[in-house]
Amino acid sequence: EREASLARYSGPGATADGHQVKLLLNVGGATDGDVDAEGVGLFRTEFLFLDRADAPSREEQRRAYGEVFRLFGDRPVVVRTLDAGADKPLPFANADDEPNPALGVRGYRVSWRKPDLLADQLAAIADAAAEHGTDVRVMAPMIATAAEARDFVALARSAGLGNVGVMIEIPAAALRAADILAEVDFVSLGTNDLSQYAFGADRVLGELGALLDPWQPALLDLVAVVAEAGRAAGKPVGVCGEAAGDPGLAPVLVGLGVTSLSMSAPAVPAVRAALRERTLDDCTDLAERVRRAPDPAAARSHALG
Ligand code: PEP
Ligand code: MG
Repeated sequence: EREASLARYSGPGATADGHQVKLLLNVGGATDGDVDAEGVGLFRTEFLFLDRADAPSREEQRRAYGEVFRLFGDRPVVVRTLDAGADKPLPFANADDEPNPALGVRGYRVSWRKPDLLADQLAAIADAAAEHGTDVRVMAPMIATAAEARDFVALARSAGLGNVGVMIEIPAAALRAADILAEVDFVSLGTNDLSQYAFGADRVLGELGALLDPWQPALLDLVAVVAEAGRAAGKPVGVCGEAAGDPGLAPVLVGLGVTSLSMSAPAVPAVRAALRERTLDDCTDLAERVRRAPDPAAARSHALG
């Protein structure tokens, strides 16, 4: 019965009263192209760099990105630059002797040591986008400060890329989202890492799952700070962590002011339905009630009834 009710909805994401919320996909390569979604909100590019001794050439990258761009036609694609390190160490990018790799030279920070890696990647993304006429956006992972955001934007623009953002997945970046938004065209909240760093809880340890629960009030507080800064700046604030694909949480995120939700393909129908069944005012009320909750269980019970 639920399946049938989900199938009633298709097309762009919106609340019952027509407030638009882009529903985007998280992809890791040229798959999932037929999904009814408005584009790609997170193209994880690590797949191309794994299990090899050297980075792929600019040409090889151009071809691989082009396959994804072709699949999505005129829909926008947000490419995330290489997020090497922590749970995804690469021999040509990361040191193997970091005592705390999740807190080490990972994500955007790798470019301090290996500037060519990022420069080649940005050039390949620009090449592929030009070839396919793609509405491409790029974003950097693991940005901590506005100065880093500014540096990334300068690099991306010098590669010919016009729509440039960063991920917000470090609490310092969330708290200073207004400064960061002054530098970029958009931000995207990586709630998986944001939880890990906010709660000091390794995201791969199942034992710490309760701390990593996306309904934790402190995580939602950080999301609210960023969404509010986005609203003030008039710039998009997406969520691309697992939280975005939770149909119970999606209306809460929208009520907080998030403008797009990016998720794995199977999550799209239920999130679309959850938004279509509520007005924006419902979402705002829900977000207010959820934020007053002292813990995840209370937050869920506000949202789910
Ligand atoms: C995140 O951290 O929430 C995210 C979307 O990126 P990844 O899971 O690839 O680290
Ligand atoms: Mg992340």
